[in-house]
This record gives sequence, structure tokens and C-alpha cells, in this order.
Amino acid sequence: MPRKSQVSRSRASVTAKRRKLAYDWLIVGAGFSGATLAERIATELGQKVLLADRRDHIAGNAYDSPAKNGILIHQYGPHIFHTNSAKVWAYLSRFTEWRPYYHRVLGMVEGKQVPIPFNLNSIYALFPPRMADSMVQALIDNFGYGKKVPILKLREAGAGDLKFLGDYIYNNVFDSYTRKQWGMGPEALDPGVTARVPVAVSRDDRYFQDTYQAMPLHGYTELFKRMLKHPLIEVATRTEWTDVKDTVRADRIIFTGPIDEFFDYSFGTLPYRSIRFEQRTHDVEFVQETGTLNYPNEFDFTRTTEQKHLTGQKARDTITITEYPQAYERGKNEPYYPIPMPETTEALRPYQEEARKLDGKVWFAGRLGDYAYYNMDQACARALTLFEKTIALAVRSGGAPEA
Ligand code: FAD
Ligand code: UDP
Repeated sequence: MPRKSQVSRSRASVTAKRRKLAYDWLIVGAGFSGATLAERIATELGQKVLLADRRDHIAGNAYDSPAKNGILIHQYGPHIFHTNSAKVWAYLSRFTEWRPYYHRVLGMVEGKQVPIPFNLNSIYALFPPRMADSMVQALIDNFGYGKKVPILKLREAGAGDLKFLGDYIYNNVFDSYTRKQWGMGPEALDPGVTARVPVAVSRDDRYFQDTYQAMPLHGYTELFKRMLKHPLIEVATRTEWTDVKDTVRADRIIFTGPIDEFFDYSFGTLPYRSIRFEQRTHDVEFVQETGTLNYPNEFDFTRTTEQKHLTGQKARDTITITEYPQAYERGKNEPYYPIPMPETTEALRPYQEEARKLDGKVWFAGRLGDYAYYNMDQACARALTLFEKTIALAVRSGGAPEA
């Protein structure tokens, strides 16, 4: 590891060198959003991109690297790829082979490990058979077999068995988990947050039902390396936006960091949630039956994931990652989650108006740039659409802007 003074000296000299170079694009953030845009711009438009990231690696929050025992670790929390978009799947498949993987989650409810999303198997695991039969029948009669019902809708829907079941699932699966994760109850958030994990009127125990579900065979970092291997893309890690904003000459900018940071917080800070990840090695081959175990009620963490279920390496020992949600404190931890709720939609508006004034010169994208709770495939889809519908059109109609 270079010492701090060496890092800053080398960064200063690199910055001085880049000052003399001109790029067509400066893209801030080397996660799914920034990397997809860099790849598209270089490959399709033949333009030169500087892709800067403040971290010492590419791949954003999807970054992975092998531990000593060979198990691939997701440094910023477990990442499972899933999408219904044939387009995103085809696009990413250019840069990786895949390892088939269906994610399964068990939740600790009243001392038992039951399938999450809560489904008919969870009901039979928790209630006596006759009571379970009657609740299952009520679900099927009201919603139909195979349907998925957001918990907030289920609670509104019923009387009798359904009311009991809705309240039970709310109290035992959603309420405290959500309070730990977000620092507030389910009703304070946009309903879409808890609807990500709807109650399933089926016996399908998979966490996701998307058409495409798999893990990149050699990991996310390798996928990103292949994506960014292009003579027109220069990657600058350990490079802050503020290191390059006034020194590098670029005709156009894409910013995938926090939108409030870009505008110097001039309309106030937007709230985020952070997480502390605790990694543990266990001297046994496997510690849990499924990829993830959720703890909706007990403890101050939300879930523990055993990496090798996801990534497939074989090892004598095993590694788990436990997630402790935290308040976000600027400069102290990472802004992992934008918080979807009416108040933040309002707070975002002036930033979106400022962003519109920069149209044609600066674009925003990604989980932090758009302040949107995207999964990886959604970040990639948003970047592909931004490229096709806006960026490619702007460049092709206007030609290369004056340097
Ligand atoms: P990011 O990956 O966050 O990349 C943004 C990059 O910008 C970062 O590398 C950051 O260092 C850089 N940056 C920010 N500000 C600056 C600055 N000022 N200067 C320089 N660089 C800057 N999605 C799934 O599909 N499946 C999952 O299982 C899944 N699990 C997740 C688990 C956790 C705990 C978290 C937090 C997220 C998970 N996600 C998952 C979501 C996934 O991480 C995001 O969808 C994806 O990373 C978004 O990509 P992005 O490029 O928009 O943002
Ligand atoms: N959720 C819950 N209990 C669970 C699983 C999920 O209350 O056992 C709620 C919680 O509010 C969570 C949201 O559903 O933040 C979305 O869950 P998901 O697993 O999609 O969250 P992520 O993987 O993005 O952290």
C-alpha cells in the first residue's frame, strides 16, 4: 500500500498530466451506471472517456474480491443479479458468463426459520394444519393462486382469517425489520419499498421470480474489467469529483455520485441510510441452509448472508456478512440507500430543476445521481436508455462539441 503522501503526490501529478489532455466525457462513478455509459459512449460513439471514482477500485457497490480461502466477497454487501429485461441480460452477457443461482431466504419468525418472501410454505411452517388450510384458502379466494400481494395491501384487504394473517405477517416480518433498516415504520416509506418483498400466494420459495437470475461466473469486478477494457476509456480510481472538476477538460459530464453533493448541498442534504457490514469466517463448510437468513425481530442486524451459496467457490471454511443498518453521516460512512418517501421526493425536486438547467452539458444517473432505489439491472437499464434516448442523439445530431 502506498503511504498517504505518495498517493496524493501521484494523484497530483496524474491530475496535472490529465489537465493537458482533453476528453469528450468525464464520468464520475465507476459502478453499473457509470461503467455502462462509459462502455456505450466509447464503443458506439467512438468518443474518449475519463471514468473517475473516489474509491480504489471499479464496480461501485457491486465490487467483489477473493478472500484468502478463495471465496469471493462482496465488499459492500451481498449482490444477487436478477432481471426481467432481456435487453439488460443480453448487454451484460457480452462481458460475463453466468453461474445459475436462485437466491433463497429464510426468516427467523417465532424461533422458526420460514421462507421469505412469506408464502404458503411459511404459513404451513408456522400454524397448525387446519388453521393454515383456512388461511391459505382465504388468500387463494381473495387474490388467486400465484398472485403476489404487498403487505400493506394485504392488511387493507381482509377481515377474519385474512386480517389475522395480514397483521401477523406485518408484525413478525415487516415492522421491526423495516424500522431497523430505515429508522422508520413501513407506512412512512413509499409503499414500493415493502412491496419489493410481497406475500406470495404460492409455494415458490425463491426470493426473486425474475426471468433471468444468475451470478457473474468470475464475479462483478471481472465483469467490469471486461466492460471497461477499451482504448477510449481511461479509468482513474482514487479520484474525487473535486480533483478533476476544474482541472480536466471534458466537453460533457455524467455524474453518478450523490446529486446533492454535486450542487454543494445548496438545497439541503438529502437523507440516505447506511450499513455496517460485519464479515466473519467460520471453521465449518456451511453455517446456514440458504444464501441469506433474515432476522426481522431479534438483534440489531437485519440479515446474514453466506457468500459461498451465492458465488459458488468451494472451501473448507465459510464466510458470512451481517448487515447492521445505520444512520448516514456524511464523510463517516457510505450513502447506500436513498430513502423513498414523500418528503424526499419533495426535497429532491429543486435538485432536479437545477439538473435540468445543465441539460446538454451535464447528466445525472444511478442510485445516487437519480436518488432512486435501483437494483443493478435497473441502474444498467437506466444508463442504456439515457445513452440511446438522449446522449447518442445529442452527439449524433450536434456532432462533437467544440473542444
Ligand atoms: P454505485 O454502485 O453506488 O456507484 C457509484 C460510484 O460513484 C461509487 O463507486 C462511488 O465511489 C462513486 N462516487 C460517488 N461520489 C463520487 C465523487 N464525488 N467522486 C468520485 N466518485 C464518486 N442490487 C441488485 O440488483 N441485487 C442485489 O442483491 C443488491 N444488493 C445490494 C445490497 C446492498 C447492501 C446495497 C447497498 C445495494 C444492493 N444492490 C443490489 C443495489 C446495487 O448496489 C445498485 O443498484 C448499483 O450498485 C447501482 O449502481 P450505480 O452505478 O448507480 O451506483
Ligand atoms: N422487508 C422486511 N422484512 C424482510 C424483508 C424485507 O420488512 O424480511 C422490507 C424492508 O422494509 C426492506 C424492504 O422490504 O427494506 C425491501 O427488502 P429487500 O430485501 O428488497 O431490500 P434490499 O435487498 O434492497 O436491502
